[in-house]
Amino acid sequence: MILVLNCGSSSLKYSLFDSAERVCARGLVDRIGQSESVVVLERGGERQSHTAAIGDHGEALSAVVGFLQEQGQGANLLEGIGHRVVHGGEYFVEAALITESVESAIAACTPLAPLHNPAALEGLRAARKLFDGVPQVAVFDTAFHQTMPPRAFLYAVPRALHAEQGIRRYGFHGTSHRYVAQRASELLGVDLDALNLITCHLGNGCSLAAIAAGRSVDTTMGLTPLEGVAMGTRSGDVDPALIFHLARSGMPLDAIEKMLLHESGLLGLSARSQDVREVEAAALDGDQAAREALEVFTYRVRKAIGAYCAVLGRVDALVCTGGIGENSAFVRLHILDGLEHMGICIDRVRNRTHAGREGDISNVDSRVKILVVPTNEELVIAREVREVLAGSSSASAL
Ligand code: ADP
Repeated sequence: MILVLNCGSSSLKYSLFDSAERVCARGLVDRIGQSESVVVLERGGERQSHTAAIGDHGEALSAVVGFLQEQGQGANLLEGIGHRVVHGGEYFVEAALITESVESAIAACTPLAPLHNPAALEGLRAARKLFDGVPQVAVFDTAFHQTMPPRAFLYAVPRALHAEQGIRRYGFHGTSHRYVAQRASELLGVDLDALNLITCHLGNGCSLAAIAAGRSVDTTMGLTPLEGVAMGTRSGDVDPALIFHLARSGMPLDAIEKMLLHESGLLGLSARSQDVREVEAAALDGDQAAREALEVFTYRVRKAIGAYCAVLGRVDALVCTGGIGENSAFVRLHILDGLEHMGICIDRVRNRTHAGREGDISNVDSRVKILVVPTNEELVIAREVREVLAGSSSASAL
Protein backbone atom coordinates (compact mmCIF):
# COMPACT_ATOMS: atom_id res chain seq x y z
CA MET A 1 0.00 0.00 0.00
CA ILE A 2 1.03 3.56 -0.67
CA LEU A 3 -0.12 6.44 1.54
CA VAL A 4 -0.34 9.81 -0.24
CA LEU A 5 -0.29 12.94 1.93
CA ASN A 6 -1.07 16.50 0.94
CA CYS A 7 -0.40 18.90 3.80
CA GLY A 8 -1.73 22.44 3.55
CA SER A 9 -1.20 25.15 6.15
CA SER A 10 -4.18 23.97 8.25
CA SER A 11 -5.23 20.74 6.56
CA LEU A 12 -3.97 17.26 5.76
CA LYS A 13 -5.50 15.26 2.92
CA TYR A 14 -4.69 11.58 2.56
CA SER A 15 -5.35 8.66 0.21
CA LEU A 16 -4.37 5.05 0.66
CA PHE A 17 -3.76 3.07 -2.56
CA ASP A 18 -3.45 -0.70 -2.87
CA SER A 19 -1.12 -2.43 -5.33
CA ALA A 20 -3.82 -2.37 -8.06
CA GLU A 21 -3.99 1.44 -7.72
CA ARG A 22 -7.41 1.26 -6.05
CA VAL A 23 -8.19 3.79 -3.32
CA CYS A 24 -8.78 1.81 -0.10
CA ALA A 25 -9.45 4.90 1.97
CA ARG A 26 -9.18 8.65 1.69
CA GLY A 27 -10.09 11.68 3.70
CA LEU A 28 -8.83 14.77 5.40
CA VAL A 29 -8.15 16.53 8.64
CA ASP A 30 -9.29 20.12 8.41
CA ARG A 31 -8.87 23.15 10.68
CA ILE A 32 -5.65 21.86 12.22
CA GLY A 33 -4.61 24.12 15.09
CA GLN A 34 -8.18 25.11 15.94
CA SER A 35 -10.19 23.78 18.85
CA GLU A 36 -12.64 21.87 16.63
CA SER A 37 -10.64 20.09 13.92
CA VAL A 38 -12.56 17.77 11.64
CA VAL A 39 -11.30 14.27 10.81
CA VAL A 40 -12.92 12.63 7.79
CA LEU A 41 -12.51 9.10 6.49
CA GLU A 42 -14.12 7.77 3.31
CA ARG A 43 -14.00 4.06 2.71
CA GLY A 44 -16.07 1.71 0.58
CA GLY A 45 -18.52 4.48 -0.31
CA GLU A 46 -19.10 5.42 3.35
CA ARG A 47 -18.09 8.65 4.97
CA GLN A 48 -17.35 8.99 8.67
CA SER A 49 -16.23 12.08 10.50
CA HIS A 50 -15.63 13.35 13.98
CA THR A 51 -14.27 16.50 15.59
CA ALA A 52 -11.25 16.64 17.87
CA ALA A 53 -8.71 19.17 19.06
CA ILE A 54 -5.75 18.63 16.75
CA GLY A 55 -2.79 20.91 17.35
CA ASP A 56 -0.44 20.16 14.46
CA HIS A 57 0.22 17.93 11.47
CA GLY A 58 1.82 15.26 13.68
CA GLU A 59 -1.39 14.91 15.70
CA ALA A 60 -3.40 14.99 12.49
CA LEU A 61 -1.44 12.11 11.03
CA SER A 62 -1.75 10.12 14.29
CA ALA A 63 -5.52 10.64 14.14
CA VAL A 64 -5.61 9.39 10.54
CA VAL A 65 -3.49 6.34 11.35
CA GLY A 66 -5.70 5.56 14.35
CA PHE A 67 -8.76 5.83 12.16
CA LEU A 68 -7.22 3.59 9.50
CA GLN A 69 -6.15 1.01 12.07
CA GLU A 70 -9.68 0.86 13.49
CA GLN A 71 -10.74 0.01 9.94
CA GLY A 72 -8.18 -2.76 9.71
CA GLN A 73 -5.80 -0.79 7.48
CA GLY A 74 -2.61 -1.50 9.42
CA ALA A 75 0.48 0.63 8.96
CA ASN A 76 2.61 -2.53 8.69
CA LEU A 77 1.35 -2.92 5.12
CA LEU A 78 2.76 0.42 3.95
CA GLU A 79 5.39 0.18 1.22
CA GLY A 80 5.92 3.90 0.88
CA ILE A 81 4.57 7.35 1.59
CA GLY A 82 4.23 10.08 -1.04
CA HIS A 83 4.15 13.74 -0.09
CA ARG A 84 2.84 16.49 -2.29
CA VAL A 85 5.35 19.33 -2.01
CA VAL A 86 4.33 22.60 -3.63
CA HIS A 87 7.74 24.16 -4.27
CA GLY A 88 10.86 22.33 -5.34
CA GLY A 89 12.58 25.45 -6.67
CA GLU A 90 15.34 24.65 -9.13
CA TYR A 91 16.49 21.69 -7.03
CA PHE A 92 14.04 19.09 -8.31
CA VAL A 93 13.19 18.05 -11.85
CA GLU A 94 11.43 14.90 -10.67
CA ALA A 95 10.17 13.12 -7.57
CA ALA A 96 12.82 12.37 -4.95
CA LEU A 97 13.33 9.83 -2.20
CA ILE A 98 13.40 11.87 1.00
CA THR A 99 16.88 12.04 2.49
CA GLU A 100 18.50 14.65 4.72
CA SER A 101 19.71 16.63 1.71
CA VAL A 102 16.28 16.48 0.04
CA GLU A 103 14.67 17.71 3.25
CA SER A 104 17.16 20.60 3.44
CA ALA A 105 16.44 21.51 -0.18
CA ILE A 106 12.67 21.57 0.54
CA ALA A 107 13.37 23.81 3.54
CA ALA A 108 15.55 26.04 1.35
CA CYS A 109 12.53 26.60 -0.92
CA THR A 110 10.40 27.85 1.98
CA PRO A 111 10.85 31.56 1.14
CA LEU A 112 9.22 30.76 -2.23
CA ALA A 113 6.20 28.97 -0.65
CA PRO A 114 6.03 30.23 2.95
CA LEU A 115 2.68 28.60 3.77
CA HIS A 116 2.99 25.33 1.88
CA ASN A 117 6.54 24.01 2.22
CA PRO A 118 6.65 24.21 6.05
CA ALA A 119 3.40 22.21 6.18
CA ALA A 120 4.87 19.55 3.87
CA LEU A 121 7.99 19.40 6.07
CA GLU A 122 5.84 18.98 9.18
CA GLY A 123 3.96 16.18 7.43
CA LEU A 124 7.06 14.30 6.38
CA ARG A 125 8.67 14.62 9.82
CA ALA A 126 5.49 13.34 11.47
CA ALA A 127 5.30 10.46 8.99
CA ARG A 128 8.92 9.53 9.69
CA LYS A 129 8.21 9.38 13.42
CA LEU A 130 5.11 7.24 12.99
CA PHE A 131 6.41 4.98 10.20
CA ASP A 132 10.06 4.55 11.01
CA GLY A 133 11.78 2.78 8.12
CA VAL A 134 9.01 3.28 5.54
CA PRO A 135 10.51 5.11 2.54
CA GLN A 136 9.10 8.53 1.82
CA VAL A 137 9.03 10.31 -1.51
CA ALA A 138 8.48 14.00 -2.28
CA VAL A 139 6.53 14.84 -5.45
CA PHE A 140 6.79 18.49 -6.49
CA ASP A 141 4.18 20.72 -8.15
CA THR A 142 6.99 22.61 -9.84
CA ALA A 143 9.09 19.69 -11.15
CA PHE A 144 7.26 19.10 -14.45
CA HIS A 145 7.87 22.71 -15.51
CA GLN A 146 11.62 22.60 -14.90
CA THR A 147 12.00 21.90 -18.63
CA MET A 148 10.92 25.49 -19.45
CA PRO A 149 13.60 27.40 -21.36
CA PRO A 150 15.03 30.66 -19.95
CA ARG A 151 12.93 32.75 -22.34
CA ALA A 152 9.83 31.36 -20.62
CA PHE A 153 11.05 31.27 -17.03
CA LEU A 154 13.01 34.53 -16.71
CA TYR A 155 11.25 37.71 -15.64
CA ALA A 156 12.59 40.78 -17.41
CA VAL A 157 14.13 42.13 -14.20
CA PRO A 158 17.82 42.45 -13.21
CA ARG A 159 19.29 38.98 -13.56
CA ALA A 160 20.94 39.10 -10.13
CA LEU A 161 17.46 38.50 -8.67
CA HIS A 162 17.41 35.08 -10.30
CA ALA A 163 21.02 34.22 -9.53
CA GLU A 164 20.92 35.40 -5.92
CA GLN A 165 17.33 34.80 -4.80
CA GLY A 166 15.86 32.28 -7.24
CA ILE A 167 13.34 34.85 -8.52
CA ARG A 168 11.95 33.33 -11.72
CA ARG A 169 8.84 31.66 -13.05
CA TYR A 170 8.41 28.09 -11.75
CA GLY A 171 4.84 27.06 -12.56
CA PHE A 172 2.58 24.78 -10.49
CA HIS A 173 -0.07 22.04 -10.92
CA GLY A 174 2.79 20.07 -12.55
CA THR A 175 1.48 16.73 -11.31
CA SER A 176 -1.89 17.42 -12.93
CA HIS A 177 -0.46 18.72 -16.22
CA ARG A 178 1.83 15.69 -16.41
CA TYR A 179 -1.00 13.24 -15.69
CA VAL A 180 -3.46 14.64 -18.24
CA ALA A 181 -0.71 14.89 -20.87
CA GLN A 182 0.09 11.22 -20.32
CA ARG A 183 -3.60 10.26 -20.49
CA ALA A 184 -4.01 12.30 -23.68
CA SER A 185 -1.16 10.35 -25.24
CA GLU A 186 -2.86 7.07 -24.24
CA LEU A 187 -6.27 8.22 -25.51
CA LEU A 188 -4.79 9.40 -28.83
CA GLY A 189 -2.58 6.34 -29.19
CA VAL A 190 0.47 8.53 -29.87
CA ASP A 191 3.71 8.62 -27.86
CA LEU A 192 3.85 11.61 -25.54
CA ASP A 193 7.29 12.50 -27.01
CA ALA A 194 5.58 13.06 -30.35
CA LEU A 195 2.76 15.28 -29.05
CA ASN A 196 2.31 19.03 -28.72
CA LEU A 197 -0.41 19.81 -26.19
CA ILE A 198 -2.07 22.69 -24.41
CA THR A 199 -3.28 21.50 -21.01
CA CYS A 200 -5.81 23.64 -19.13
CA HIS A 201 -6.17 22.92 -15.42
CA LEU A 202 -9.23 24.92 -14.36
CA GLY A 203 -10.21 24.37 -10.74
CA ASN A 204 -10.15 26.76 -7.81
CA GLY A 205 -6.60 27.40 -8.94
CA CYS A 206 -6.17 27.64 -12.72
CA SER A 207 -3.16 27.25 -14.98
CA LEU A 208 -2.37 26.31 -18.57
CA ALA A 209 0.76 24.62 -19.86
CA ALA A 210 2.30 24.50 -23.31
CA ILE A 211 3.77 21.04 -23.80
CA ALA A 212 6.14 20.46 -26.75
CA ALA A 213 7.15 16.88 -27.52
CA GLY A 214 5.87 15.86 -24.09
CA ARG A 215 7.83 18.50 -22.14
CA SER A 216 6.49 21.63 -20.48
CA VAL A 217 7.88 24.69 -22.30
CA ASP A 218 5.68 27.34 -20.71
CA THR A 219 2.96 27.69 -18.11
CA THR A 220 0.81 30.54 -16.87
CA MET A 221 1.68 30.46 -13.14
CA GLY A 222 5.00 31.97 -12.15
CA LEU A 223 7.08 32.55 -9.03
CA THR A 224 3.92 31.77 -7.06
CA PRO A 225 0.48 30.38 -8.00
CA LEU A 226 -0.90 33.93 -8.20
CA GLU A 227 0.34 34.70 -11.73
CA GLY A 228 -1.58 33.87 -14.89
CA VAL A 229 -5.26 33.55 -15.71
CA ALA A 230 -8.05 34.62 -13.33
CA MET A 231 -9.07 31.93 -10.81
CA GLY A 232 -11.72 31.19 -8.17
CA THR A 233 -10.47 33.80 -5.70
CA ARG A 234 -7.07 34.77 -7.18
CA SER A 235 -6.67 37.70 -9.53
CA GLY A 236 -4.06 36.18 -11.83
CA ASP A 237 -2.05 38.80 -13.74
CA VAL A 238 -2.50 42.41 -12.77
CA ASP A 239 -0.28 45.37 -13.55
CA PRO A 240 2.35 45.15 -10.76
CA ALA A 241 1.97 48.90 -10.36
CA LEU A 242 -1.50 48.23 -8.92
CA ILE A 243 0.24 47.09 -5.74
CA PHE A 244 2.34 50.28 -5.41
CA HIS A 245 -0.73 52.36 -6.16
CA LEU A 246 -2.82 50.69 -3.45
CA ALA A 247 0.06 50.70 -0.95
CA ARG A 248 0.66 54.43 -1.49
CA SER A 249 -3.02 55.09 -1.06
CA GLY A 250 -2.75 53.57 2.42
CA MET A 251 -3.80 49.93 2.01
CA PRO A 252 -1.53 47.67 4.11
CA LEU A 253 0.57 45.13 2.15
CA ASP A 254 -1.04 42.20 3.95
CA ALA A 255 -4.49 43.43 2.95
CA ILE A 256 -3.40 43.79 -0.69
CA GLU A 257 -2.02 40.26 -0.65
CA LYS A 258 -5.22 38.91 0.92
CA MET A 259 -7.32 40.73 -1.66
CA LEU A 260 -5.35 39.39 -4.64
CA LEU A 261 -5.23 35.83 -3.27
CA HIS A 262 -8.59 35.40 -1.59
CA GLU A 263 -11.03 38.12 -2.65
CA SER A 264 -10.46 38.41 -6.39
CA GLY A 265 -11.04 36.20 -9.45
CA LEU A 266 -14.58 34.88 -9.95
CA LEU A 267 -15.47 35.79 -6.35
CA GLY A 268 -14.23 39.36 -6.56
CA LEU A 269 -15.75 40.12 -9.95
CA SER A 270 -19.10 38.45 -9.32
CA ALA A 271 -19.26 39.83 -5.76
CA ARG A 272 -21.11 36.60 -5.08
CA SER A 273 -19.19 33.29 -5.20
CA GLN A 274 -15.98 31.59 -6.25
CA ASP A 275 -17.96 28.55 -7.34
CA VAL A 276 -18.46 28.55 -11.09
CA ARG A 277 -21.83 26.79 -10.74
CA GLU A 278 -23.24 29.62 -8.63
CA VAL A 279 -21.77 32.29 -10.88
CA GLU A 280 -23.22 30.54 -13.98
CA ALA A 281 -26.66 30.31 -12.35
CA ALA A 282 -26.58 34.01 -11.45
CA ALA A 283 -25.44 34.96 -14.97
CA LEU A 284 -28.34 32.97 -16.46
CA ASP A 285 -30.65 34.90 -14.11
CA GLY A 286 -29.41 38.11 -15.70
CA ASP A 287 -26.88 39.19 -13.05
CA GLN A 288 -24.51 41.54 -14.92
CA ALA A 289 -21.57 41.19 -12.49
CA ALA A 290 -21.75 37.38 -12.69
CA ARG A 291 -21.85 37.55 -16.49
CA GLU A 292 -18.78 39.81 -16.59
CA ALA A 293 -16.94 37.57 -14.11
CA LEU A 294 -17.40 34.62 -16.48
CA GLU A 295 -16.45 36.74 -19.48
CA VAL A 296 -13.17 37.83 -17.87
CA PHE A 297 -12.47 34.26 -16.72
CA THR A 298 -13.06 32.63 -20.11
CA TYR A 299 -11.46 35.47 -22.13
CA ARG A 300 -8.23 35.21 -20.21
CA VAL A 301 -8.01 31.44 -20.74
CA ARG A 302 -8.79 31.94 -24.44
CA LYS A 303 -5.96 34.49 -24.74
CA ALA A 304 -3.56 32.08 -23.05
CA ILE A 305 -4.56 29.36 -25.53
CA GLY A 306 -3.84 31.78 -28.38
CA ALA A 307 -0.45 32.54 -26.89
CA TYR A 308 0.40 28.85 -26.56
CA CYS A 309 -0.66 28.13 -30.14
CA ALA A 310 1.96 30.72 -31.12
CA VAL A 311 4.52 29.13 -28.78
CA LEU A 312 3.94 25.58 -30.06
CA GLY A 313 3.27 26.15 -33.77
CA ARG A 314 1.56 22.79 -34.20
CA VAL A 315 -0.98 21.77 -31.56
CA ASP A 316 -2.23 18.16 -31.56
CA ALA A 317 -4.65 18.39 -28.66
CA LEU A 318 -6.04 20.67 -26.03
CA VAL A 319 -6.89 19.04 -22.72
CA CYS A 320 -9.42 20.37 -20.17
CA THR A 321 -9.15 19.27 -16.55
CA GLY A 322 -9.84 20.43 -12.96
CA GLY A 323 -13.32 20.84 -11.44
CA ILE A 324 -14.30 23.51 -13.99
CA GLY A 325 -12.52 22.06 -17.04
CA GLU A 326 -14.02 18.62 -16.40
CA ASN A 327 -17.56 19.74 -15.61
CA SER A 328 -18.51 23.13 -16.97
CA ALA A 329 -19.76 22.82 -20.56
CA PHE A 330 -20.63 26.53 -20.39
CA VAL A 331 -17.09 27.63 -19.55
CA ARG A 332 -15.54 25.25 -22.12
CA LEU A 333 -17.82 26.58 -24.84
CA HIS A 334 -17.10 30.21 -24.03
CA ILE A 335 -13.37 29.58 -24.05
CA LEU A 336 -13.24 27.56 -27.26
CA ASP A 337 -16.12 28.68 -29.46
CA GLY A 338 -14.92 30.71 -32.45
CA LEU A 339 -11.38 29.31 -32.60
CA GLU A 340 -12.07 27.36 -35.82
CA HIS A 341 -9.51 29.48 -37.73
CA MET A 342 -6.89 27.97 -35.40
CA GLY A 343 -8.08 24.43 -36.12
CA ILE A 344 -9.86 24.21 -32.75
CA CYS A 345 -13.48 23.17 -33.43
CA ILE A 346 -15.59 22.30 -30.41
CA ASP A 347 -18.61 20.03 -30.97
CA ARG A 348 -21.45 21.79 -29.14
CA VAL A 349 -23.49 18.65 -28.60
CA ARG A 350 -20.58 16.53 -27.40
CA ASN A 351 -19.52 19.36 -25.14
CA ARG A 352 -22.97 19.78 -23.64
CA THR A 353 -23.61 16.11 -23.06
CA HIS A 354 -20.16 15.40 -21.68
CA ALA A 355 -19.49 15.73 -17.97
CA GLY A 356 -16.97 14.52 -15.48
CA ARG A 357 -15.42 11.68 -17.48
CA GLU A 358 -12.79 11.17 -20.17
CA GLY A 359 -13.67 11.94 -23.74
CA ASP A 360 -13.26 13.89 -26.95
CA ILE A 361 -15.46 16.98 -27.42
CA SER A 362 -14.01 18.16 -30.74
CA ASN A 363 -15.99 17.82 -33.97
CA VAL A 364 -14.82 15.72 -36.89
CA ASP A 365 -13.29 18.74 -38.67
CA SER A 366 -11.15 19.78 -35.74
CA ARG A 367 -7.42 19.65 -36.50
CA VAL A 368 -6.80 19.96 -32.76
CA LYS A 369 -8.44 17.27 -30.63
CA ILE A 370 -10.21 18.68 -27.60
CA LEU A 371 -10.10 16.20 -24.72
CA VAL A 372 -11.65 16.24 -21.27
CA VAL A 373 -9.54 14.28 -18.79
CA PRO A 374 -10.39 14.19 -15.08
CA THR A 375 -7.18 14.81 -13.19
CA ASN A 376 -5.94 12.47 -10.49
CA GLU A 377 -3.03 14.02 -8.66
CA GLU A 378 -3.07 11.49 -5.80
CA LEU A 379 -2.75 8.60 -8.25
CA VAL A 380 0.23 10.26 -9.97
CA ILE A 381 1.90 10.73 -6.59
CA ALA A 382 1.28 7.06 -5.69
CA ARG A 383 2.77 6.01 -9.06
CA GLU A 384 5.78 8.25 -8.59
CA VAL A 385 6.39 6.66 -5.19
CA ARG A 386 6.41 3.22 -6.80
CA GLU A 387 8.71 4.42 -9.58
CA VAL A 388 11.17 5.98 -7.18
CA LEU A 389 11.11 2.87 -5.00
CA ALA A 390 11.66 0.66 -8.02
CA GLY A 391 14.72 2.75 -8.74
CA SER A 392 13.50 3.65 -12.22
CA SER A 393 13.74 7.31 -11.33
CA SER A 394 16.96 8.79 -10.00
CA ALA A 395 15.99 10.12 -6.64
CA SER A 396 18.23 12.91 -5.61
CA ALA A 397 18.38 16.62 -5.06
CA LEU A 398 20.36 18.31 -7.80
P1 ADP B 1 -9.30 22.56 -6.44
O1 ADP B 1 -8.47 23.45 -7.32
O2 ADP B 1 -9.53 23.14 -5.07
O3 ADP B 1 -8.87 21.11 -6.44
P2 ADP B 1 -11.49 21.71 -8.12
O4 ADP B 1 -10.60 21.19 -9.18
O5 ADP B 1 -12.33 20.76 -7.36
O6 ADP B 1 -10.74 22.65 -7.09
O7 ADP B 1 -12.47 22.79 -8.83
C1 ADP B 1 -13.40 23.54 -8.14
C2 ADP B 1 -14.24 24.28 -9.15
O8 ADP B 1 -14.90 23.31 -9.98
C3 ADP B 1 -15.33 25.17 -8.56
O9 ADP B 1 -15.33 26.43 -9.21
C4 ADP B 1 -16.61 24.45 -8.93
O10 ADP B 1 -17.60 25.36 -9.23
C5 ADP B 1 -16.23 23.72 -10.18
N1 ADP B 1 -17.12 22.56 -10.38
C6 ADP B 1 -17.14 21.42 -9.67
N2 ADP B 1 -18.13 20.61 -10.11
C7 ADP B 1 -18.75 21.27 -11.11
C8 ADP B 1 -19.88 20.98 -11.97
N3 ADP B 1 -20.52 19.82 -11.88
N4 ADP B 1 -20.22 21.91 -12.87
C9 ADP B 1 -19.55 23.07 -12.97
N5 ADP B 1 -18.49 23.41 -12.20
C10 ADP B 1 -18.10 22.53 -11.28
